[in-house]
Amino acid sequence: MRHLLSIEDLSPAEIAAVLDRAASFAEVAGRAIKSVPALRGQTVVNLFYEASTRTSSSFELAAKRLSADVVSIRSSGSSVEKGESLKDTAQTLSAYDPAAIVIRSPHVGAAALVARWTPAAVVNAGDGKHEHPTQALLDLYTMRRRLGTLEGANVWIVGDVLHSRVARSNILGLRAMGAKVTVCGPPTLIPRNIETLGCAVRYSLDALGEADVVYALRMQHERMTDAYVPSLREYASCFQIDGRRLRPGQLLMHPGPVNRGVELSADVIDSPQAAIAQQVEAGVVVRMAVLFELLAGPALASDADAAPGVAASPGAPADVEHAGAPA
Ligand code: ASP
Repeated sequence: MRHLLSIEDLSPAEIAAVLDRAASFAEVAGRAIKSVPALRGQTVVNLFYEASTRTSSSFELAAKRLSADVVSIRSSGSSVEKGESLKDTAQTLSAYDPAAIVIRSPHVGAAALVARWTPAAVVNAGDGKHEHPTQALLDLYTMRRRLGTLEGANVWIVGDVLHSRVARSNILGLRAMGAKVTVCGPPTLIPRNIETLGCAVRYSLDALGEADVVYALRMQHERMTDAYVPSLREYASCFQIDGRRLRPGQLLMHPGPVNRGVELSADVIDSPQAAIAQQVEAGVVVRMAVLFELLAGPALASDADAAPGVAASPGAPADVEHAGAPA
């Protein structure tokens, strides 16, 4: 894999290899010294043109735990509105010879454009309503840990599917791994023809009981130009996941940030069924795995055929154990 722009860049075997690699990094994360020298001497640039807490902090931590030099740039006032100035920025930053550029942008296709303008590996950390592949990978990782397998898992994605890059990447990733996906929300927030991605569509929570995983989405006010629901109170009365609607044994997930009292009630957020904190935790090891595979890993295809999860190149967790030389 040269870049990670879409979850579709990865075959099921490659997804499994990233999840296995992340599991091996989770062992390192449990140690007192959490870094490994895998990317020592390499530079990772994080370029965030849109608000982010979890994704930006976990990419930064992931790169640091791999011992890369990290430059994090945020442009909250958005000087990048047009392709040209994004091109200028990408080319300017490329002068530092980064091994990877991680980019979050409000514009669909921004990461793919940057990939054309830089020799660095590019990771899409969210491009508008389009995709958020590392979010999908960390969600798959979290589900696989909690359920044991993704094959045959029944996942309901509930809420503002229309504005959600997370929903899109998750549907594609889950389908690739053999899960059954249903999207659910008011008709105004379900994109037309979403079934073509291989999911079922429901406009009420009546059959929510069949889900193994209830994945709630944030109401994305910042992307809404019209009124998509009569009121948030009305939305919550029909689609909020609360203690009455969540069946015991169901796993509850949310990509964050949560609008408390809108898509989720306070009691379920804090219940043991919620895996929200585990998703954040998974964000670091999964992003370490992605950076590692892009910059230091053997080709994913051949790696997947070998022993998934057992790092084969210098600086990988298994070797560090022997070397006893955390960075
Ligand atoms: N944090 C996720 C994203 O950046 C989900 C959200 O914002 O609702 O897409």
